[in-house]
Amino acid sequence: MRITVFSTKPYDRHFLNAASDGAGHRLTYLEARLSPETCDLAAGSDAVCAFVNDDIDADVLERLAAKGIRLLVLRAAGFNNVDLEAAKRSGITIGRVPAYSPHAVAEHAVALILTLNRKTHRAYNRVREGNFSLDGLLGFDLAGKTVGVVGTGKIGEVMCRIMSGFGCRVIAYDVQENPNCLAMGVTYVPVEELLSSSDIISLHCPLTPATQHLINEASLQRMKRGVMLINTSRGAVIDTQAVLMGLKDGIIGSLGLDVYEEEDDLFFEDLSGRFIDDDVFARLLTFPNVLITGHQAFFTHEAMTNIAETTIANVTSFEQTGQVVHEVSTEKIAR
Ligand code: NAD
Repeated sequence: MRITVFSTKPYDRHFLNAASDGAGHRLTYLEARLSPETCDLAAGSDAVCAFVNDDIDADVLERLAAKGIRLLVLRAAGFNNVDLEAAKRSGITIGRVPAYSPHAVAEHAVALILTLNRKTHRAYNRVREGNFSLDGLLGFDLAGKTVGVVGTGKIGEVMCRIMSGFGCRVIAYDVQENPNCLAMGVTYVPVEELLSSSDIISLHCPLTPATQHLINEASLQRMKRGVMLINTSRGAVIDTQAVLMGLKDGIIGSLGLDVYEEEDDLFFEDLSGRFIDDDVFARLLTFPNVLITGHQAFFTHEAMTNIAETTIANVTSFEQTGQVVHEVSTEKIAR
């Protein structure tokens, strides 16, 4: 199939070239994001491949369908950026990569926890400057602390396992209990109890209408003073303005983000020669107890290999059978 691949970086091309070798597809790589302004670049293709911050709304889907495109494959697990009803109306099948490495994301969440707690990012700079003072580097033992995991699917389950290994008490909130988590001793509690009992809260639920701004002004009032909040799920699960106030008030003791509500205008690009035109983000960067990474939790060799191989498998399957291996559809979500 002829596939136009949007939002690509050199590393995407490397892994997709390796995965598509011998599959008989023709891939055209574009750096541009998929949006109403760029979707015409897919003309002449049979399929489109997109990424997390591409704008896959009704307008884009209708225009892709008008060009004869019947398949859109996401190089991601999350599909909150796709208008699924519009895809159905337009006759476009949506494929995704539901599981590529839950370890990659959970391990990154743990990296954020360890760095924020033991301040290794600050120690690294200090020691390089010959400053061996320990002032401001005080951490706490993870063993014995209560970790609240919101969303115990594939990534949340790995997170529970790792934090149990540190000797933490792991509690969880999910709309559906995971038997593997129950088996490892995780206790499911209502979200209110998770918020009020946790020393560390880590978010691993998808972004849906139910989870949008799950962490808001009201939920902050329930949290333990000095709680550590970690978000590697999707930016809008957190109301960033409310969290900013929580940091100022000291309710949030430390904040680790790999995702941000308005990340579309920032992440995945080198903006180091420009100023950051986002006052909330810029304010967050002024806190010594805030650590932000630019949506890199998925970025391991294993995950990139799996993403590329599953993406190509979705395309090959669609070409041969008319169905992708991993479909996202309104019916499947409703089930
Ligand atoms: P998953 O589908 O396996 O698990 C999600 C879990 O969230 C499920 O157990 C589900 O029941 C639960 N959930 C759904 N609605 C909920 C609600 N209202 N309240 C509480 N729990 C709810 O997904 P996963 O593979 O574990 O991924 C989780 C999320 O992580 C993805 O949706 C994606 O947004 C994010 N993610 C981020 C990165 C990154 O690089 N930062 C990479 C991959 C995935």
